[in-house]
Order: sequence, then structure tokens, then C-alpha cells
Amino acid sequence: PPVIQTSNISKVYRMGTEEIHALRSVTISIKRGEYVAFMGPSGSGKSTLMNIVGCLDTPTTGQYILNGKDVSRMTDNQLADVRNREIGFVFQTFNLLPRATALDNVALPLIYAGYSKSEREERAMESLRSVGLHDRSKHKPNELSGGQRQRVAIARALVNNPSVLLADEPTGALDSKTSYEIMELFEALYARGNTIIMVTHEEDIARYAHRIVRLRDGEIETDQPNHDVRAHK
Ligand code: ADP
Ligand code: ADP
Repeated sequence: PPVIQTSNISKVYRMGTEEIHALRSVTISIKRGEYVAFMGPSGSGKSTLMNIVGCLDTPTTGQYILNGKDVSRMTDNQLADVRNREIGFVFQTFNLLPRATALDNVALPLIYAGYSKSEREERAMESLRSVGLHDRSKHKPNELSGGQRQRVAIARALVNNPSVLLADEPTGALDSKTSYEIMELFEALYARGNTIIMVTHEEDIARYAHRIVRLRDGEIETDQPNHDVRAHK
């Protein structure tokens, strides 16, 4: 069974008397281990779809099954619970705690998962190692480069072994060389079996994904395997 299965999901925002159809009958299925880019111009519905897939929001109509669970009609509390266990988020602006070390930032999600301090530190260190930053564990965000900060954010996203890594414009705040390094890391995570969904409006970045879904006006315009995955090194 797929990790992600949406069936005819729509999202309607009501603004006074106006209705905005942000998503119109979107059906998409993503298997474990896929690396997918959601592309599309501004206003095409990427954020809305990402928010639903990431359990930050629910569709107005239609069904969303995440790992066999129907999350489309869950309460906010149930949704938060599923989100914390199943989804690892990476954002354009990293969203790290400025006063906490890299290790403490990465360990943070494990507090809610109920691990002891030593278990948290061990797992956080392991996750930092997996992104090549175990030698920066004591550094605070402002003592790290942009690319290193994003690596810390990726280590934090992965520390709970989520079903899906959901990255919203992960290279949006990085220069092209650093973006390339982050895309190399994503390729390595893909090779290790992680399921990755990346939201981007940049063609150059989408080219790294192995499947590209293009949205337009709230609908899937195309959904195709990328046979021309951008070469690495
Ligand atoms: P994208 O991420 O591709 O730029 P969005 O999903 O943010 O697209 O937006 C899709 C459409 O829904 C746009 O017309 C946008 O203005 C509208 N929209 C998004 N969020 C809201 C909201 N909270 N309230 C009202 N309209 C919204
Ligand atoms: P944008 O793509 O519009 O710049 P973000 O990437 O910051 O916005 O966030 C995308 C979505 O994720 C938004 O709905 C936002 O509310 C939510 N979000 C942002 N940061 C966090 C966070 N640390 N934890 C949970 N949800 C977040």
C-alpha cells in the first residue's frame, strides 16, 4: 500500500462571500521510498497540498490516507499526533531554536516522543552523523553556515524516523553551491530508502527529484517520472 494516498481532495477557502478553490479534486499516490517534487507557479496550490499531506490541515472534501490511516476527518489533536510521528518537516528558513546547540535542536522532537535524555542525545548524534555534522553538535545556529543549518534541520526532521520527509522550498534561502550540496544529501537519503516530498517553484531544484508533479490552478497538470534526474558529482 502507498504511504500517501489522496482521493479527489479539494480545499476551499472562504473569504467573506468569496470562495477560493485552492485544490480541485487532487488524486495522488506516493509509495514508500519515492522522491517527489511538487512544482507549480505561485498560487497553484503547492502550499495547500503540502499542508494537507503534512497533516497541518485537512481537505474540504475527499479522502487522505496516510500509512493506512484516514487522516482527512481527524480532530486537530489527532492530526498533531499523526504529524509528530509520521512527518519530518524541513522549511526554507530552517526554523531552528537560536539559543540551542545543533544537538539540542535535533533532539527536540524526541522530548515529545518520551525518550530519556541519554537516549535523546544518542539518537540526535546519530541523526547529525547521518547528515555529516556530528563534529558540529555543540555549535549554535549562528555559528553554522546556511547549508549546515539546513543539515541540522534535516537531522531534526529525520530523528523520529518519520514515514515522509516533507521539504518546503528547502533551498530557497541558500546559494546555488549550497543548494547543490543539500540536493546531494537528499539523493543520499533517497538512496537509503527515505520517502521525500519536496515543494519547489524552481525547475533547477525539481530536476533532482525522481518524480515531478506539476500543479496549476489547484489541479494536477502532469505527474511524471523524471528519467533525467540531475547527475550528482
Ligand atoms: P502556492 O503554494 O502554489 O503558491 P497556495 O496553496 O499557497 O499556492 O495557494 C493556492 C490558492 O489558495 C491561492 O489562490 C491562494 O491565494 C489561496 N489561499 C491559500 N491560503 C489561503 C488562505 N489561508 N485563505 C484564503 N486563501 C488562501
Ligand atoms: P511559506 O512556505 O508560506 O513561506 P513556511 O514554509 O514557513 O511558509 O510554512 C509552511 C506551512 O507550515 C505553514 O502552514 C506554516 O504555518 C507551517 N509551519 C511553519 N513552521 C512550522 C513549524 N515549525 N511547525 C509546524 N508547522 C509549521
